Amino acid sequence: MASKADSTQSTESDPAWEYNNLEDDDSITCNFCNVVTRGGIYGARQHQIRSCLYCPKVVKDRLKAFTEKEKSKKGVVVNQRGFGDDDEGGDDVKIPRLEKKRSGVQLSGQEKRLKSNVMDEACDKELIAKTAIARFFYQAGIAFNVVRLDCFKEMIELIGNYGPNFKPPSYHELRGPSLKKEVDDMNQWIEGHKEKWSKYGCSIMLDSWTDREQKTLINILVNSSDGTVFMESVNASSNTMSGSEMCALVEKFVDQIGEANVVQVITNSECNSVRAG
Ligand SMILES: [Zn+2]
Repeated sequence: MASKADSTQSTESDPAWEYNNLEDDDSITCNFCNVVTRGGIYGARQHQIRSCLYCPKVVKDRLKAFTEKEKSKKGVVVNQRGFGDDDEGGDDVKIPRLEKKRSGVQLSGQEKRLKSNVMDEACDKELIAKTAIARFFYQAGIAFNVVRLDCFKEMIELIGNYGPNFKPPSYHELRGPSLKKEVDDMNQWIEGHKEKWSKYGCSIMLDSWTDREQKTLINILVNSSDGTVFMESVNASSNTMSGSEMCALVEKFVDQIGEANVVQVITNSECNSVRAG
């Protein structure tokens, strides 16, 4: 009776099945790094605990905990069997594990059991995805406030909507076609603004600020009913801009936008001698 209970327990959901894929030839592929192991689910689990570079720590911890539990369970089984036949006892402990490796039927049973725990799985999935995103930020040295960008949220949502097997853009795509498309889109967007500028007029805004290296920069922006377009950033640190230089700068942009379209020029207190459009 004890042995029956134990064998059912030992075939019970090995969490490693959630992070590995059983192939037709009985090899197992790691979902994180695609490494193929042939030591059954136990070997796959050991790979993820010990050597997988991409297995999140939460998963490693979970698998470690399961391994510990299995070990202690095994100890109990051996002790119980110890009353009768030692050799058989030893085999019995191993056989269910071997069957698990080979038998597709048992795997599907396991999978069913795993899927019954939908809530846990969803939590794990979220945690794994978040861990991977965080690691990407740390390794790439990306500023954390990037997550506040609307386009970041949009990107995550679109990847999620796409579903499995999304192919990310390649290096070539990013520096070539994707960049060209973005520039085209941006130019088109600005063209829309320019139409508004000539229809309803616009304001030129000069915003000077000092960066961490004490460089003075002036951002030139154009605001209209449609929103604000960034035109250029001028480095004004080498020389404190004189009134006439500032005037020339403003004039350049007034000409570029069209004098008739500029309703007003707005500056902050640091910019002096500015002529209204
Ligand atoms: Zn791996």
